[in-house]
Amino acid sequence: MTTLRLVLGDQLTRDVAALRDMAHGDVVLMVEAAAETTYVKHHKQKIVFVLSAMRHFAEELRAEGITVDYIKLDDISNTGSISGELQRAVIRHKPSQVILTSPGEWRVLSDFRALDLGVAIEIRDDDRFFASTERFAQWAEGRKAWRMEFFYREMRRETDLLMEGDQPAGGQWNFDSDNRKRLPKSVQVPQHFGFPADAITREVLELVGETFADHFGDLAPFEWAVTRTDALRALDTFLRDALPNFGTYQDAMATGEPFVFHAAISPYLNAGLLTPREVCVAAEREYIEKRAPLNAVEGFIRQILGWREYVRGVYWLKMPDYAETNALDATRPLPWLYWSGDTDMHCMAEAIGQTRRHAYSHHIQRLMVTGNFALLAGVAPKQIAEWYLVVYADAYEWVELPNVQGMSQFADGGLLASKPYISSGAYIDRMSDFCKSCVYDVKLKSGPKACPFNYLYWAFLIRHAALLRSNPRLAMPYRTLERWDEGHKAAVTAEAEAFLDGLAVE
Ligand SMILES: Cc1cc2nc3c(=O)[nH]c(=O)nc-3n(C[C@H](O)[C@H](O)[C@H](O)COP(=O)(O)OP(=O)(O)OC[C@H]3O[C@@H](n4cnc5c(N)ncnc54)[C@H](O)[C@@H]3O)c2cc1C
Ligand code: SF4
Repeated sequence: MTTLRLVLGDQLTRDVAALRDMAHGDVVLMVEAAAETTYVKHHKQKIVFVLSAMRHFAEELRAEGITVDYIKLDDISNTGSISGELQRAVIRHKPSQVILTSPGEWRVLSDFRALDLGVAIEIRDDDRFFASTERFAQWAEGRKAWRMEFFYREMRRETDLLMEGDQPAGGQWNFDSDNRKRLPKSVQVPQHFGFPADAITREVLELVGETFADHFGDLAPFEWAVTRTDALRALDTFLRDALPNFGTYQDAMATGEPFVFHAAISPYLNAGLLTPREVCVAAEREYIEKRAPLNAVEGFIRQILGWREYVRGVYWLKMPDYAETNALDATRPLPWLYWSGDTDMHCMAEAIGQTRRHAYSHHIQRLMVTGNFALLAGVAPKQIAEWYLVVYADAYEWVELPNVQGMSQFADGGLLASKPYISSGAYIDRMSDFCKSCVYDVKLKSGPKACPFNYLYWAFLIRHAALLRSNPRLAMPYRTLERWDEGHKAAVTAEAEAFLDGLAVE
């Protein structure tokens, strides 16, 4: 009897749960669904990456002798949805059962659970993560405050990564305080490693160029790896050229340098071309064999073993309500500059320009430039969350939403982050070279030449004083605000409002 095994576009791992115990005669179904490419208008490069990686994966399975029923986006009879294609495939193959790996999005899982195909459906856990959703729920149960750091320590103990017996390597769990340096001119950033497009990718580039011309983002240069082999090469290059400096310059930003010392592997991890475990083990080996220092390796592993697992746990425990959170009652429409990049704020233009060109920007640009601005401006969480889901090649809701609602926009009221990630222009100036070539003056607090981040920062604190004043991590700025008279506060608020009201919206 035939088993039909569905593989989704972010499940491109040979060992993914649905592909285990394959038997002779089984059929693997892969679907390019229009609904998934357009429910938000994804960046063109993100669509190329996913479709090309899917087509390459299907070829690899076929090369093993596996039967793959692959439905292309432009196949005449493609119904446009995964469930529609599953129904058609059940009629074609008459399987005794359908097996799939649990999808990474709440909406899609709910659809599958409600689906009646007339045959048994088995939805297997996605065990490519270090912690199952049950493991995270068990950790979270009964805790008053969830903090990534404590979850991460348990993960270190459970995986034995960077452990010396029951103690953390180097005697410390966290080397964050060593990891906040600005990029000096004397330090050379490694060359970004891009991959030339092969025939399959060229065909997809053409398809996407024609079909999704009105989507955000440039199609070229398309440099992402689309096979596991190339993703492993990208990882090796990162480990050799960038990891030793990853920690020290983790928060640094520089004009014309989107990648700095970051790995740019998140699309590969999220689509399944690389697994989190192999990446962490490979990074740990660099420390053990003394090719990379502990602050770099610990900082890197924490992102994957800590943050990546943590946000996934939060997502599955808190959805669907999590998507509706808006603790700060933010309602401003997303300014048009997020799409056009057309702004005099050099930091914003740089972050959005890199995003347009590469479908990538590194964490601090997402958090402290575009995220910070949206938070200070009071942009509605749903609108900024959709922007992040659209524009990055690595964006899948399970990882994007908690990063936006929780870490970046404080929409969950502090469940994920202990304080809102806000800053004035001073932080951006400290961590980048952006302010030197900006029309605004980062040192000025008010007036037409003043850096907008400065008055927006204080206006935000004034606006949310009732909610945030008692937060110990914001004690310092609120002490400063106590010394301001009401007239000063009103003037700063008015300047911020006037600036924001002057921004075009769609
Ligand atoms: C507002 C906002 C939105 C984000 N949206 C996404 C998203 O849609 N998809 C996504 O994968 N990451 C997202 N992140 C997290 C992070 O910015 C990216 O994972 C990272 O920039 C990817 O680039 P990299 O591979 O060079 O990462 P590196 O800095 O080299 O880090 C290595 C790996 O650690 C993991 N990682 C690092 N930080 C995080 C984090 N906060 N959450 C989860 N994993 C993390 C990623 O898998 C990354 O590849 C978001 C962060 C913010 C602040
Ligand atoms: S001066 Fe302000 S707006 Fe300009 S780059 Fe610096 S932080 Fe950004």
